[in-house]
Amino acid sequence: MSTSFRWVEQARSGRARAGHLHTAHGTVPTPTFMPVGTVGTVKAMTMDAVRSTGAGIVLGNTYHLMLRPGAERVRALGGLHRFMDWPGPILTDSGGFQVMSLGPLRKLDQDGVTFSSHIDGSKHRLTPERSTDIQHALDATITMCFDECPALPAAPEVIAQSMRMSMRWAARCREAFVQRPGYAQYGIIQGGTEPELRAESVRALTGIGFEGYAIGGLAVGEGQELMFSTLDATTPLIPWDSPRYLMGVGTPDDLLGSVERGVDMFDCVMPTRAGRTARAYTERGTLNLRNARHAVDSRPISPHCDCLACTRHSRAYLHHLFRANEILGPMLLTWHNLAYYQRLMRGIRSAIVEGSLEAHAAWLRAQWAMEDWTPDEMPLPDIPPVP
Ligand SMILES: [Zn+2]
Repeated sequence: MSTSFRWVEQARSGRARAGHLHTAHGTVPTPTFMPVGTVGTVKAMTMDAVRSTGAGIVLGNTYHLMLRPGAERVRALGGLHRFMDWPGPILTDSGGFQVMSLGPLRKLDQDGVTFSSHIDGSKHRLTPERSTDIQHALDATITMCFDECPALPAAPEVIAQSMRMSMRWAARCREAFVQRPGYAQYGIIQGGTEPELRAESVRALTGIGFEGYAIGGLAVGEGQELMFSTLDATTPLIPWDSPRYLMGVGTPDDLLGSVERGVDMFDCVMPTRAGRTARAYTERGTLNLRNARHAVDSRPISPHCDCLACTRHSRAYLHHLFRANEILGPMLLTWHNLAYYQRLMRGIRSAIVEGSLEAHAAWLRAQWAMEDWTPDEMPLPDIPPVP
């Protein structure tokens, strides 16, 4: 197998695509969900557990890793893959989103951003060049451009100015990027919810030329309808052979609707964060395991799940762990939630390959709209086959 970075189509259904992302660190079937490993760990999970859910690629974060333990230390210890024991592909966030979220702790200029560490208040600076260098030091399989992400809602002029600065920064990021076989850099499409600005951003980025394109600046409070209409206006403009990554999204319903609109890659803290707060994702919506109704329920969280929490433990046991503040509760439930997200993506992917996406999507939405399983329904016989 050649190690050049590329996305290869396997099947399509309307604008939805199934394919394979070939990288220096292995091949990932798409569409895919990337568990978030912000500081070099997917919180509460061993990497073996992450692998067992079927995850093919994970996320790391420039902002957090540059502050602690520092990019040079990670490089000296063999890079992020070795440091966190994840030999598969890793995508690193550029730090832009986190730095912009620091509010009064940061100062933005045309060249970059100066900010104070949230850990010890020390002063740091990120520029397009520095962010790209740090991601190189971490040995990121996929490097993201450093950009500005304005908070919505904002006036169209503000969004336009911000997007144009991000496009100038994208050119500087590309200049700083060290090309290696199997490695990639993604440009980030900005422009808020304005179709013309999104189109201008796509033209600027495809003019520079990247191995993949991300859609940034969404899922920041604009609502699902505006997010979907922005995707409708944006994904058709991206070259078909390039992987598309929707940053920071989302709920199971967001993922399904975005795959239908041509997105291949996702990341979101929802399944991991929910796992630490007793919220379980299932085919029939979410359950709060702290709720007293689970206290004597001997059933698994989901009859369709092959994770450790569902094959070995009851809802009552999970309820007890969270009530007693035991660390095993967040561990088991994070595992379960990541297993659900990966199963969801596998199901959508095989439906695209088999040409049954429409029926599968209708089945998923009908299940989400239902209440929890009644005891005599468990286990359900009618789940569509998942490879
Ligand atoms: Zn489970």
